[in-house]
Amino acid sequence: MKYEHLRQQDPAVWEIIEREEKRQNDELELIASENYVSPAVLETLATVLTNKYSEGYIGRRYYGGNNNIDEIENLAITRAKKLFAAEHVNVQPLSGSPANAAVYLAFLNPGDKVLGLKLDHGGHLSHGHKINFSGRLYNFVQYGLNPETGMIDMEEVRRIALAERPKMIVAGFSAYSREIDWQKFKEIADEIGAYTFADIAHIAGLIAAKQLKNPVPIFDVVSTTTHKTLRGPRGAIIMCKEKYAKQVDRAVFPGMQGGPHDHITAAKAVTFGEALTPEFIEYAKQTILNAQAMAAEFIARGYKIISGGTDNHLMVIDLSNKDLAGKEAEKILEMIGISVSRSTIPNDPNPPLNPSGIRIGTAAATTRGMKEAEMKLIVEYIDEAFNNRDQEEKLVLLKQAVKELCGKFPIPTK
Ligand SMILES: *Cc1c(COP(=O)(O)O)cnc(C)c1O
Repeated sequence: MKYEHLRQQDPAVWEIIEREEKRQNDELELIASENYVSPAVLETLATVLTNKYSEGYIGRRYYGGNNNIDEIENLAITRAKKLFAAEHVNVQPLSGSPANAAVYLAFLNPGDKVLGLKLDHGGHLSHGHKINFSGRLYNFVQYGLNPETGMIDMEEVRRIALAERPKMIVAGFSAYSREIDWQKFKEIADEIGAYTFADIAHIAGLIAAKQLKNPVPIFDVVSTTTHKTLRGPRGAIIMCKEKYAKQVDRAVFPGMQGGPHDHITAAKAVTFGEALTPEFIEYAKQTILNAQAMAAEFIARGYKIISGGTDNHLMVIDLSNKDLAGKEAEKILEMIGISVSRSTIPNDPNPPLNPSGIRIGTAAATTRGMKEAEMKLIVEYIDEAFNNRDQEEKLVLLKQAVKELCGKFPIPTK
Protein backbone atom coordinates (compact mmCIF):
# COMPACT_ATOMS: atom_id res chain seq x y z
CA MET A 1 0.00 0.00 0.00
CA LYS A 2 1.02 3.60 -0.64
CA TYR A 3 2.77 5.47 2.22
CA GLU A 4 2.78 2.31 4.34
CA HIS A 5 5.29 3.59 6.92
CA LEU A 6 3.30 6.73 7.44
CA ARG A 7 0.05 4.79 7.78
CA GLN A 8 1.54 2.54 10.48
CA GLN A 9 3.30 5.25 12.42
CA ASP A 10 0.95 8.19 12.17
CA PRO A 11 -2.50 7.19 10.95
CA ALA A 12 -3.92 10.62 11.82
CA VAL A 13 -1.73 12.39 9.26
CA TRP A 14 -1.96 9.53 6.76
CA GLU A 15 -5.73 9.56 6.84
CA ILE A 16 -5.94 13.29 6.07
CA ILE A 17 -3.54 12.90 3.15
CA GLU A 18 -5.63 10.00 1.80
CA ARG A 19 -8.74 12.16 2.02
CA GLU A 20 -7.01 15.04 0.24
CA GLU A 21 -5.84 12.72 -2.52
CA LYS A 22 -9.41 11.55 -2.99
CA ARG A 23 -10.68 15.13 -3.01
CA GLN A 24 -8.16 16.07 -5.69
CA ASN A 25 -9.22 13.08 -7.78
CA ASP A 26 -12.99 13.51 -7.40
CA GLU A 27 -13.20 17.27 -7.67
CA LEU A 28 -12.46 19.79 -10.36
CA GLU A 29 -9.61 22.24 -9.81
CA LEU A 30 -10.17 25.59 -11.52
CA ILE A 31 -7.98 27.71 -9.24
CA ALA A 32 -5.72 29.50 -11.71
CA SER A 33 -2.54 29.11 -9.63
CA GLU A 34 -2.83 25.35 -9.11
CA ASN A 35 -1.77 22.32 -11.12
CA TYR A 36 -0.93 18.60 -10.73
CA VAL A 37 2.76 17.66 -10.80
CA SER A 38 3.86 14.53 -12.64
CA PRO A 39 4.55 11.31 -10.70
CA ALA A 40 8.27 11.86 -11.45
CA VAL A 41 8.21 15.29 -9.80
CA LEU A 42 6.24 13.89 -6.87
CA GLU A 43 8.75 11.08 -6.37
CA THR A 44 11.65 13.54 -6.44
CA LEU A 45 10.05 15.56 -3.65
CA ALA A 46 10.08 12.55 -1.34
CA THR A 47 13.79 11.75 -1.67
CA VAL A 48 16.73 11.84 0.75
CA LEU A 49 17.83 15.17 -0.72
CA THR A 50 15.64 16.75 1.95
CA ASN A 51 18.29 15.65 4.50
CA LYS A 52 21.08 17.83 3.13
CA TYR A 53 22.37 21.28 4.09
CA SER A 54 24.03 23.18 1.26
CA GLU A 55 24.16 26.90 2.02
CA GLY A 56 26.15 28.67 -0.66
CA TYR A 57 26.48 28.00 -4.37
CA ILE A 58 28.00 25.36 -6.67
CA GLY A 59 31.63 24.72 -5.68
CA ARG A 60 31.36 27.26 -2.82
CA ARG A 61 29.26 25.59 -0.10
CA TYR A 62 29.49 26.20 3.61
CA TYR A 63 28.98 22.48 4.30
CA GLY A 64 30.82 19.35 3.17
CA GLY A 65 29.41 16.47 1.15
CA ASN A 66 27.74 18.58 -1.52
CA ASN A 67 29.13 17.05 -4.74
CA ASN A 68 25.80 15.47 -5.67
CA ILE A 69 23.85 18.56 -4.72
CA ASP A 70 26.16 20.66 -6.91
CA GLU A 71 25.33 18.42 -9.85
CA ILE A 72 21.60 18.65 -9.17
CA GLU A 73 21.68 22.43 -8.90
CA ASN A 74 23.75 22.65 -12.07
CA LEU A 75 21.20 20.54 -13.97
CA ALA A 76 18.34 22.75 -12.78
CA ILE A 77 20.22 25.91 -13.80
CA THR A 78 21.29 24.58 -17.22
CA ARG A 79 17.77 23.47 -18.09
CA ALA A 80 16.15 26.71 -16.85
CA LYS A 81 18.62 28.78 -18.92
CA LYS A 82 17.68 26.81 -22.03
CA LEU A 83 13.96 26.97 -21.31
CA PHE A 84 13.82 30.75 -20.85
CA ALA A 85 16.92 31.88 -22.82
CA ALA A 86 18.30 33.28 -19.56
CA GLU A 87 21.85 34.54 -19.01
CA HIS A 88 21.84 33.76 -15.30
CA VAL A 89 19.47 31.71 -13.11
CA ASN A 90 19.22 31.30 -9.35
CA VAL A 91 17.16 28.19 -8.53
CA GLN A 92 17.23 28.51 -4.74
CA PRO A 93 14.24 30.78 -3.91
CA LEU A 94 11.80 28.94 -1.67
CA SER A 95 8.66 30.44 -3.20
CA GLY A 96 7.36 33.38 -5.21
CA SER A 97 7.14 35.93 -2.43
CA PRO A 98 10.65 35.22 -1.04
CA ALA A 99 11.98 35.40 -4.63
CA ASN A 100 10.44 38.84 -5.04
CA ALA A 101 11.84 39.93 -1.67
CA ALA A 102 15.30 38.88 -2.91
CA VAL A 103 14.84 40.82 -6.15
CA TYR A 104 13.98 44.01 -4.26
CA LEU A 105 16.90 43.40 -1.88
CA ALA A 106 19.24 43.01 -4.85
CA PHE A 107 18.22 46.20 -6.64
CA LEU A 108 16.68 48.60 -4.11
CA ASN A 109 17.19 50.30 -0.78
CA PRO A 110 14.36 50.64 1.73
CA GLY A 111 12.24 53.65 0.80
CA ASP A 112 13.02 53.47 -2.92
CA LYS A 113 10.15 54.12 -5.29
CA VAL A 114 8.71 51.22 -7.33
CA LEU A 115 5.89 51.21 -9.89
CA GLY A 116 3.55 48.20 -9.97
CA LEU A 117 -0.01 47.19 -10.84
CA LYS A 118 -2.74 47.81 -8.24
CA LEU A 119 -3.61 44.68 -6.29
CA ASP A 120 -7.35 44.94 -6.96
CA HIS A 121 -6.57 45.21 -10.69
CA GLY A 122 -4.69 41.89 -10.72
CA GLY A 123 -1.35 42.65 -9.07
CA HIS A 124 0.21 40.50 -6.35
CA LEU A 125 0.57 41.18 -2.60
CA SER A 126 4.34 41.25 -3.03
CA HIS A 127 4.02 44.15 -5.50
CA GLY A 128 3.50 46.78 -2.84
CA HIS A 129 0.37 45.93 -0.87
CA LYS A 130 0.46 48.02 2.29
CA ILE A 131 0.21 45.03 4.65
CA ASN A 132 2.93 43.11 2.77
CA PHE A 133 6.68 43.54 3.43
CA SER A 134 6.96 45.10 -0.03
CA GLY A 135 4.55 47.92 0.78
CA ARG A 136 6.10 48.50 4.19
CA LEU A 137 9.73 48.60 3.04
CA TYR A 138 9.45 50.27 -0.34
CA ASN A 139 7.55 53.24 -1.67
CA PHE A 140 5.18 51.67 -4.20
CA VAL A 141 3.18 53.76 -6.62
CA GLN A 142 0.59 52.05 -8.74
CA TYR A 143 -1.09 51.98 -12.13
CA GLY A 144 -4.48 50.47 -12.88
CA LEU A 145 -6.20 48.80 -15.81
CA ASN A 146 -8.11 50.92 -18.30
CA PRO A 147 -11.71 50.95 -16.97
CA GLU A 148 -13.17 50.70 -20.49
CA THR A 149 -11.03 47.89 -21.91
CA GLY A 150 -9.92 46.08 -18.75
CA MET A 151 -6.42 46.05 -20.23
CA ILE A 152 -3.10 47.62 -19.26
CA ASP A 153 -2.95 51.09 -20.74
CA MET A 154 0.70 51.60 -21.67
CA GLU A 155 0.20 55.34 -22.15
CA GLU A 156 -1.04 55.54 -18.56
CA VAL A 157 1.96 53.49 -17.36
CA ARG A 158 4.26 55.89 -19.20
CA ARG A 159 2.51 58.97 -17.82
CA ILE A 160 2.82 57.74 -14.21
CA ALA A 161 6.40 56.54 -14.75
CA LEU A 162 7.50 59.93 -16.11
CA ALA A 163 5.74 61.80 -13.28
CA GLU A 164 6.91 59.51 -10.45
CA ARG A 165 10.34 58.41 -11.77
CA PRO A 166 10.49 55.07 -9.89
CA LYS A 167 13.79 53.20 -9.52
CA MET A 168 12.10 49.98 -10.69
CA ILE A 169 9.06 49.07 -12.78
CA VAL A 170 7.34 45.77 -11.92
CA ALA A 171 5.34 44.03 -14.61
CA GLY A 172 3.71 41.03 -13.03
CA PHE A 173 0.21 39.80 -12.53
CA SER A 174 -1.90 37.30 -10.63
CA ALA A 175 -5.19 37.93 -12.34
CA TYR A 176 -4.56 39.45 -15.76
CA SER A 177 -5.63 37.52 -18.84
CA ARG A 178 -3.93 39.40 -21.66
CA GLU A 179 -0.58 39.28 -23.44
CA ILE A 180 1.91 41.74 -21.95
CA ASP A 181 3.90 44.21 -24.06
CA TRP A 182 7.29 43.65 -22.37
CA GLN A 183 9.09 45.71 -24.99
CA LYS A 184 6.94 48.76 -24.28
CA PHE A 185 7.57 48.41 -20.52
CA LYS A 186 11.30 48.29 -21.25
CA GLU A 187 11.14 51.42 -23.44
CA ILE A 188 9.31 53.34 -20.70
CA ALA A 189 11.83 52.19 -18.07
CA ASP A 190 14.72 53.22 -20.32
CA GLU A 191 13.29 56.73 -20.63
CA ILE A 192 13.69 57.22 -16.87
CA GLY A 193 16.61 54.85 -16.22
CA ALA A 194 14.50 52.43 -14.13
CA TYR A 195 15.18 48.72 -13.60
CA THR A 196 12.71 46.34 -15.26
CA PHE A 197 11.39 43.45 -13.17
CA ALA A 198 8.90 40.90 -14.56
CA ASP A 199 7.10 38.51 -12.24
CA ILE A 200 5.81 35.73 -14.52
CA ALA A 201 4.59 33.42 -11.71
CA HIS A 202 1.30 32.57 -13.42
CA ILE A 203 2.34 32.37 -17.05
CA ALA A 204 5.85 30.87 -16.87
CA GLY A 205 4.75 27.52 -18.33
CA LEU A 206 3.06 29.25 -21.27
CA ILE A 207 6.18 31.36 -21.87
CA ALA A 208 8.49 28.33 -21.57
CA ALA A 209 6.36 26.62 -24.23
CA LYS A 210 6.66 29.74 -26.42
CA GLN A 211 2.91 30.39 -26.42
CA LEU A 212 3.37 33.85 -24.86
CA LYS A 213 6.12 36.45 -25.30
CA ASN A 214 9.19 35.98 -23.13
CA PRO A 215 10.42 38.94 -21.05
CA VAL A 216 13.68 37.24 -20.00
CA PRO A 217 15.81 38.49 -22.94
CA ILE A 218 14.34 41.99 -22.55
CA PHE A 219 14.09 42.68 -18.80
CA ASP A 220 16.85 43.16 -16.20
CA VAL A 221 15.39 40.58 -13.85
CA VAL A 222 12.52 38.06 -13.93
CA SER A 223 11.08 35.93 -11.13
CA THR A 224 8.68 33.04 -11.37
CA THR A 225 7.11 30.42 -9.19
CA THR A 226 7.57 26.87 -10.45
CA HIS A 227 4.21 25.47 -9.33
CA LYS A 228 1.61 27.24 -11.47
CA THR A 229 1.44 26.74 -15.26
CA LEU A 230 5.03 25.47 -15.16
CA ARG A 231 3.62 22.43 -13.29
CA GLY A 232 6.52 21.85 -10.92
CA PRO A 233 7.11 21.74 -7.16
CA ARG A 234 6.25 24.69 -4.92
CA GLY A 235 9.17 27.07 -5.29
CA ALA A 236 10.59 29.82 -7.46
CA ILE A 237 13.56 30.91 -9.55
CA ILE A 238 15.10 34.27 -10.43
CA MET A 239 16.56 34.98 -13.87
CA CYS A 240 18.66 38.01 -14.72
CA LYS A 241 21.24 39.52 -17.01
CA GLU A 242 24.77 38.28 -16.33
CA LYS A 243 25.82 41.72 -15.06
CA TYR A 244 23.36 41.37 -12.15
CA ALA A 245 24.22 37.74 -11.34
CA LYS A 246 26.36 38.49 -8.27
CA GLN A 247 23.95 40.90 -6.63
CA VAL A 248 20.96 38.61 -7.23
CA ASP A 249 22.78 35.55 -5.84
CA ARG A 250 23.97 37.50 -2.81
CA ALA A 251 20.43 38.74 -2.15
CA VAL A 252 19.02 35.18 -2.18
CA PHE A 253 21.85 33.83 0.01
CA PRO A 254 22.97 35.09 2.45
CA GLY A 255 20.62 38.09 2.03
CA MET A 256 17.22 36.41 2.35
CA GLN A 257 17.57 32.69 2.89
CA GLY A 258 19.65 30.04 4.58
CA GLY A 259 19.98 26.57 3.12
CA PRO A 260 18.23 25.80 -0.17
CA HIS A 261 15.68 22.96 -0.27
CA ASP A 262 17.66 20.49 -2.36
CA HIS A 263 14.84 17.99 -2.92
CA ILE A 264 12.84 20.86 -4.39
CA THR A 265 15.80 21.98 -6.52
CA ALA A 266 15.91 18.43 -7.92
CA ALA A 267 12.16 18.53 -8.59
CA LYS A 268 12.66 21.86 -10.38
CA ALA A 269 15.29 20.18 -12.59
CA VAL A 270 12.81 17.39 -13.43
CA THR A 271 10.10 19.98 -14.15
CA PHE A 272 12.36 21.95 -16.51
CA GLY A 273 13.23 18.67 -18.25
CA GLU A 274 9.51 18.01 -18.77
CA ALA A 275 8.90 21.59 -19.96
CA LEU A 276 11.55 21.13 -22.68
CA THR A 277 9.54 18.31 -24.32
CA PRO A 278 7.12 18.63 -27.29
CA GLU A 279 4.36 17.20 -25.04
CA PHE A 280 4.64 20.22 -22.78
CA ILE A 281 4.23 22.58 -25.73
CA GLU A 282 1.03 20.74 -26.66
CA TYR A 283 -0.10 21.02 -23.04
CA ALA A 284 0.48 24.79 -22.99
CA LYS A 285 -1.35 25.26 -26.31
CA GLN A 286 -4.32 23.26 -25.06
CA THR A 287 -4.38 25.15 -21.77
CA ILE A 288 -4.88 28.42 -23.68
CA LEU A 289 -7.42 26.91 -26.11
CA ASN A 290 -9.34 25.60 -23.12
CA ALA A 291 -9.36 28.99 -21.39
CA GLN A 292 -10.57 30.64 -24.60
CA ALA A 293 -13.32 28.03 -25.06
CA MET A 294 -14.38 28.54 -21.48
CA ALA A 295 -14.42 32.34 -21.76
CA ALA A 296 -16.51 32.14 -24.95
CA GLU A 297 -19.05 29.89 -23.25
CA PHE A 298 -19.29 32.17 -20.22
CA ILE A 299 -19.85 35.17 -22.51
CA ALA A 300 -22.51 33.24 -24.46
CA ARG A 301 -24.31 32.69 -21.16
CA GLY A 302 -24.29 36.40 -20.30
CA TYR A 303 -21.25 36.57 -18.02
CA LYS A 304 -18.89 39.55 -18.01
CA ILE A 305 -15.21 38.64 -18.46
CA ILE A 306 -12.74 41.40 -17.57
CA SER A 307 -11.09 42.55 -20.84
CA GLY A 308 -13.63 40.46 -22.78
CA GLY A 309 -11.54 37.31 -23.09
CA THR A 310 -8.17 35.71 -22.48
CA ASP A 311 -4.77 35.14 -24.10
CA ASN A 312 -3.52 32.85 -21.32
CA HIS A 313 -4.78 30.22 -18.87
CA LEU A 314 -7.04 32.41 -16.76
CA MET A 315 -9.98 34.79 -16.71
CA VAL A 316 -11.60 37.06 -14.15
CA ILE A 317 -15.41 37.05 -14.18
CA ASP A 318 -17.32 40.07 -12.92
CA LEU A 319 -20.45 38.63 -11.27
CA SER A 320 -22.13 41.93 -10.46
CA ASN A 321 -24.77 41.43 -13.19
CA LYS A 322 -25.60 37.98 -11.75
CA ASP A 323 -26.75 39.14 -8.31
CA LEU A 324 -23.85 37.20 -6.85
CA ALA A 325 -20.55 38.10 -5.17
CA GLY A 326 -17.23 36.26 -5.19
CA LYS A 327 -17.45 34.63 -1.78
CA GLU A 328 -20.92 33.19 -2.34
CA ALA A 329 -19.98 32.00 -5.85
CA GLU A 330 -16.91 30.26 -4.44
CA LYS A 331 -19.11 28.54 -1.85
CA ILE A 332 -21.79 27.41 -4.31
CA LEU A 333 -19.13 25.88 -6.56
CA GLU A 334 -17.48 24.18 -3.61
CA MET A 335 -20.84 22.48 -2.98
CA ILE A 336 -20.66 20.86 -6.44
CA GLY A 337 -16.98 19.91 -6.17
CA ILE A 338 -15.45 22.76 -8.16
CA SER A 339 -12.70 24.94 -6.65
CA VAL A 340 -12.30 28.53 -7.82
CA SER A 341 -10.98 31.61 -6.04
CA ARG A 342 -12.85 34.83 -5.38
CA SER A 343 -11.24 37.80 -7.06
CA THR A 344 -11.43 41.54 -7.05
CA ILE A 345 -12.43 43.27 -10.26
CA PRO A 346 -10.84 46.58 -11.32
CA ASN A 347 -12.11 49.40 -9.04
CA ASP A 348 -14.10 46.85 -7.05
CA PRO A 349 -16.82 48.53 -4.97
CA ASN A 350 -16.81 45.54 -2.57
CA PRO A 351 -14.17 44.65 0.08
CA PRO A 352 -11.32 42.17 -0.70
CA LEU A 353 -12.82 39.47 1.55
CA ASN A 354 -16.00 39.48 -0.52
CA PRO A 355 -15.03 40.94 -3.88
CA SER A 356 -17.27 41.12 -6.95
CA GLY A 357 -15.68 38.42 -9.05
CA ILE A 358 -14.08 35.02 -9.36
CA ARG A 359 -10.86 33.96 -11.08
CA ILE A 360 -10.85 30.74 -13.07
CA GLY A 361 -7.95 28.94 -14.71
CA THR A 362 -7.53 25.88 -16.91
CA ALA A 363 -3.98 24.73 -16.11
CA ALA A 364 -5.00 21.86 -13.81
CA ALA A 365 -8.03 20.66 -15.81
CA THR A 366 -5.85 20.57 -18.94
CA THR A 367 -3.29 18.39 -17.15
CA ARG A 368 -6.13 15.86 -16.66
CA GLY A 369 -6.55 15.77 -20.44
CA MET A 370 -9.73 17.82 -20.69
CA LYS A 371 -10.38 19.74 -23.91
CA GLU A 372 -12.79 22.34 -25.32
CA ALA A 373 -15.89 20.09 -25.11
CA GLU A 374 -15.30 19.51 -21.39
CA MET A 375 -14.78 23.26 -20.85
CA LYS A 376 -18.23 23.98 -22.32
CA LEU A 377 -19.73 21.33 -20.08
CA ILE A 378 -18.01 22.74 -17.00
CA VAL A 379 -19.37 26.23 -17.73
CA GLU A 380 -22.82 24.68 -18.09
CA TYR A 381 -22.45 23.07 -14.64
CA ILE A 382 -21.24 26.35 -13.11
CA ASP A 383 -24.07 28.34 -14.68
CA GLU A 384 -26.66 25.80 -13.52
CA ALA A 385 -25.25 25.83 -10.02
CA PHE A 386 -25.48 29.64 -9.86
CA ASN A 387 -29.01 29.62 -11.30
CA ASN A 388 -30.20 26.90 -8.88
CA ARG A 389 -28.21 28.01 -5.88
CA ASP A 390 -31.14 27.45 -3.48
CA GLN A 391 -32.09 24.01 -4.78
CA GLU A 392 -30.13 21.50 -2.84
CA GLU A 393 -31.24 18.49 -4.90
CA LYS A 394 -30.07 20.12 -8.10
CA LEU A 395 -26.67 20.90 -6.52
CA VAL A 396 -26.31 17.27 -5.43
CA LEU A 397 -26.94 16.13 -9.00
CA LEU A 398 -24.38 18.63 -10.31
CA LYS A 399 -21.82 17.42 -7.79
CA GLN A 400 -22.37 13.89 -9.09
CA ALA A 401 -21.93 15.09 -12.68
CA VAL A 402 -18.65 16.84 -11.80
CA LYS A 403 -17.39 13.69 -10.08
CA GLU A 404 -18.27 11.58 -13.13
CA LEU A 405 -16.45 13.99 -15.42
CA CYS A 406 -13.37 13.85 -13.19
CA GLY A 407 -13.58 10.04 -13.19
CA LYS A 408 -13.24 10.11 -16.99
CA PHE A 409 -10.12 12.30 -16.74
CA PRO A 410 -8.01 10.95 -13.88
CA ILE A 411 -5.00 12.89 -12.61
CA PRO A 412 -2.06 11.43 -14.60
CA THR A 413 -0.21 8.72 -12.67
CA LYS A 414 2.39 7.95 -15.31
C1 LIG B 1 1.59 33.31 -6.98
C2 LIG B 1 2.32 34.57 -7.17
C3 LIG B 1 3.39 34.92 -6.33
C4 LIG B 1 3.69 34.26 -5.01
O1 LIG B 1 4.06 33.00 -4.98
P1 LIG B 1 4.10 32.18 -3.60
O2 LIG B 1 4.84 30.98 -4.01
O3 LIG B 1 2.67 31.94 -3.23
O4 LIG B 1 4.82 33.01 -2.59
C5 LIG B 1 4.13 36.06 -6.66
N1 LIG B 1 3.82 36.79 -7.73
C6 LIG B 1 2.77 36.51 -8.53
C7 LIG B 1 2.47 37.40 -9.70
C8 LIG B 1 1.97 35.40 -8.27
O5 LIG B 1 0.92 35.15 -9.04
